[in-house]
Amino acid sequence: MSSKKNRKPKTKENLLSPEQVDKVLSVISSQREDFVFKGILYTGLRNSEFLHMNKRWINFNRDLLRVPGKQECNCKGCKYARRKIRSEANKKIDKKFSTGERASKALNYELGKYTNEELSVYDYLLRIDDDSYLPEHFIEENLKLDADIVGSSGYGQLIKMKLFIEVLNARFPEVWSEDGHVWYTFKYYGLKAEKYRVKPENFGTRNFNKKRYFGDGISRYKKGYIIPHILVSFREPMSGRKVGFNVIYIIAGYFWAMLKGEKKYFFSEMTTDLQWKRIMRRNT
Ligand SMILES: [Zn+2]
Repeated sequence: MSSKKNRKPKTKENLLSPEQVDKVLSVISSQREDFVFKGILYTGLRNSEFLHMNKRWINFNRDLLRVPGKQECNCKGCKYARRKIRSEANKKIDKKFSTGERASKALNYELGKYTNEELSVYDYLLRIDDDSYLPEHFIEENLKLDADIVGSSGYGQLIKMKLFIEVLNARFPEVWSEDGHVWYTFKYYGLKAEKYRVKPENFGTRNFNKKRYFGDGISRYKKGYIIPHILVSFREPMSGRKVGFNVIYIIAGYFWAMLKGEKKYFFSEMTTDLQWKRIMRRNT
């Protein structure tokens, strides 16, 4: 975060006076120049925002312009900015830990600022990934499930706070797929774990690569997944993104973990059992 000194608004001293505006307008010679100048002058958009504006931003009924927080774009400028942000971020990331582990560490750091008693005044804990957003009625609809936890893995979870404290001592497990881990832990203790009735939406900016699929395979092994289940799940459980050919990397990770004798999670037998049952049911 930048210090207050750097955040001093510079806009005011750069504002054009009405005379200056008139002067510029008097030399404008094309419709395009007119559009660009007036567009930036009257909307208050930043240059980069103005460049990316499209019809969807404009609410003609209410005479409003809404700038989205994020917008998928593959223009040169955006690609360059993304690459720069990513490489800066990667420099700071401790590669020893997976995304799930780091997310949990960050969440636990914040949760650690409160005692369990302070947390217990809340009914629910909502955890949403930063590349996701909530559709309308997300909370109302998912509360209708009256589940102890909603959302198995993917973009977020809605958890009953009382149980989050009781079962997990108000801390997220610091493992590869922390959300799946939480969900299975709840199931293991016989609690009501449900999938979303209304899913969070994702911006589709996730970067899936070989390494990620390999790690996913290791994680699936530890969670007690069975091979037939991996072979039939050609899609990511939540995003619905096709795994396709990459299933090879998942299987490679799975066997690597098996050969290495990785320790499975405490709920793995339950998962194995559930998956066999599901497959049997499908075949009969
Ligand atoms: Zn762009």
